[in-house]
Amino acid sequence: MKHHSIIDIIERKRDGGALAPDELQWVIAEYTADRIPDYQMSALLMAVFIRGFSPDELTSWTESMLRSGEVLDLSHIPAVKIDKHSTGGVGDKVSIPLAPMVAACGVAVPMMSGRGLGHTGGTLDKLESIPGFRTRLDRDEFVGIVERHGLVLGGQSESMAPADRRIYSLRDTTGTVPSLPLIASSIMSKKLAEGIDGLVLDVKTGVGAFMKDEESALALAKTMVSIGQLHGTKVLATLTAMDQPLGQEVGNANEIRESLDVLAGAGPEDVVAVTLSLGADMLVLGGVSVTREAARDRLVAAIESGAAMEKFQEVIAAQGGDPAVTEDASLLPAAPNRHELIAARGGFITVCDAREVGLAGVRLGAGRQRKEDDVDHGVGITLGAKIGDRVDKGDVLAAVQYRDQARLESALQFLERAFTIGDDATQPELIIGHVG
Ligand code: URA
Repeated sequence: MKHHSIIDIIERKRDGGALAPDELQWVIAEYTADRIPDYQMSALLMAVFIRGFSPDELTSWTESMLRSGEVLDLSHIPAVKIDKHSTGGVGDKVSIPLAPMVAACGVAVPMMSGRGLGHTGGTLDKLESIPGFRTRLDRDEFVGIVERHGLVLGGQSESMAPADRRIYSLRDTTGTVPSLPLIASSIMSKKLAEGIDGLVLDVKTGVGAFMKDEESALALAKTMVSIGQLHGTKVLATLTAMDQPLGQEVGNANEIRESLDVLAGAGPEDVVAVTLSLGADMLVLGGVSVTREAARDRLVAAIESGAAMEKFQEVIAAQGGDPAVTEDASLLPAAPNRHELIAARGGFITVCDAREVGLAGVRLGAGRQRKEDDVDHGVGITLGAKIGDRVDKGDVLAAVQYRDQARLESALQFLERAFTIGDDATQPELIIGHVG
């Protein structure tokens, strides 16, 4: 590869100039090989944050990140392989019921999920609240489980898209996270390295999302769909609201319990609606249903017949977990103490701020305040009321399952700020639109 000058590249991006594909490839390769130091990469990331990338630059940057490590080859598996990714939210446990529902309908789901980030929860942390469940799978085990069961729920292996892992942690500490091209390339490089045929994206917008307003969430969705198209991978995106948490449960074991409710044919309306909508996209992309309506019917049938729950039991056992949790949720960890947050007046809930609830969950120990922290799988928050609900003075707004008094007090500072009670009933939007 031709040598370039990193200083010249930083200065050109800083001044709004264009970078050539081989320059971008070189930067990613040199940084991954430790030949460009973090301080120069940070300067370049800030220049990109401010100046953005042209579509050509973004394509080259994403492709280079994707090629910075191993790219899985799943072509020997005959089923169509579709994954789903959410840009991150609070109470967003959708992947957990969704993956077995879709796999039960004949589409293979090699799902690679992440851990909690900031105030948002992570699918891997939630799954690990199932006793014995292992999400750290090496490449052969990951591929073997999807071959045998049409479904695997693992984490990103060390060897896949290493450039993203390193750049992401730099961004986390250099004020360069909420950048459209940097988020799009981060998500798409790791997803395209999975060797999937198609991808369904849930792009969150609202106070609890990284993209706060609809316009920027829509732009992010369009960008990720076009990166997929250029790569030859089909991508469908849905914009969904993240102003309040999804469902009633926030916390790791709490969210597994609610996911089991969905698989058992119950579960809160909003979780079910988002799960069915994204699942329908996965079945259509996977070619097993022609229309979204037919796909929804198929997903509902997989719940009613018990096939989706059986698929979940199968994958839990394959990954070392105890499938008995699906019949007895008391086998999941639960913190011993309970505190209730009570409504100080009657009226309608007008705000149930997802970010504040998410931060309360992190303070309880459901997420991490530092990278090296362990999460407590048994703490969580059960919402008693959400936007539009009528409450009387004295009603329970939220029940907190906690282990430690000091952590409870710290969490309550956020949780108490999360709710506003007013005089008017408002019905929030949930599914805002589709792209792709
Ligand atoms: N999720 C990611 O994987 N990367 C980002 O940059 C933001 C959310």
